[in-house]
Amino acid sequence: MKIIMLGAPGAGKGTQAKMIAESYKIPHVSTGDMFRLNIKNGTELGKEAKQYMDQGLLVPDELTVRILLDRVAQDDCKNGYVLDGFPRTIPQAEVLEEALNKLGDKIDYAIDVEVPDENIIRRMGGRRACTSCGATYHIEHVPPKKEGVCDQCGQELVLRDDDKPETVEKRLRVYQEQTAPLLEFYSSKGVLRSVDGTQDMQDVFKAIEEILK
Ligand code: ADP
Ligand code: AMP
Repeated sequence: MKIIMLGAPGAGKGTQAKMIAESYKIPHVSTGDMFRLNIKNGTELGKEAKQYMDQGLLVPDELTVRILLDRVAQDDCKNGYVLDGFPRTIPQAEVLEEALNKLGDKIDYAIDVEVPDENIIRRMGGRRACTSCGATYHIEHVPPKKEGVCDQCGQELVLRDDDKPETVEKRLRVYQEQTAPLLEFYSSKGVLRSVDGTQDMQDVFKAIEEILK
């Protein structure tokens, strides 16, 4: 099964993608996580991506498409995957479609996690991310057992640079301009499904399970 998670930054794509990955035994592929890993490791790609990410802008398509296509060509992606944060532009969606076409394959579902902007700003201000393993928490909704410390690996939790309020507003604008057109793109292909992302995360997941049945 090949699934795309759509939705504004902070809508809960990553949270749901991880639950889907675990339940359906398919890899969770997040371009944001891949960029953050490259930044942490000080690679050239990481250095280039960071310039855009810190400003709340999208990383250029060329760079993003390369890292994504390399990842989904790996063996563990043979039986499917859940994409989180990719595609974010129409050209990215077209490149993915073309690459899948060549393999006689296609996306099964594009799931839009719908959350109004005012909830998003609150969610992202409360998001805390592990500097080591990438796990995410929320200070109110999903608190770690010990404040500021990752349950999974014991490392420090931080507010991501791009989750600061001024950058969040910019990211929401970028989402409306460059990413929201994907809703129409996938709707026209008959694979778009929407879920109410304002619900408790277990209920959002139940709605997704109904779609994937
Ligand atoms: P995205 O991947 O779309 O940017 P995340 O999955 O990282 O979003 O979620 C953003 C923040 O909101 C995180 O702190 C997460 O713990 C929290 N969150 C995710 N889903 C829900 C939910 N259904 N209700 C409340 N908070 C949520
Ligand atoms: P995320 O972790 O998905 O919220 O992504 C964090 C940041 O990484 C985004 O704000 C972008 O700067 C960059 N990024 C992640 N995925 C993409 C993508 N598909 N296209 C362009 N930029 C991306």
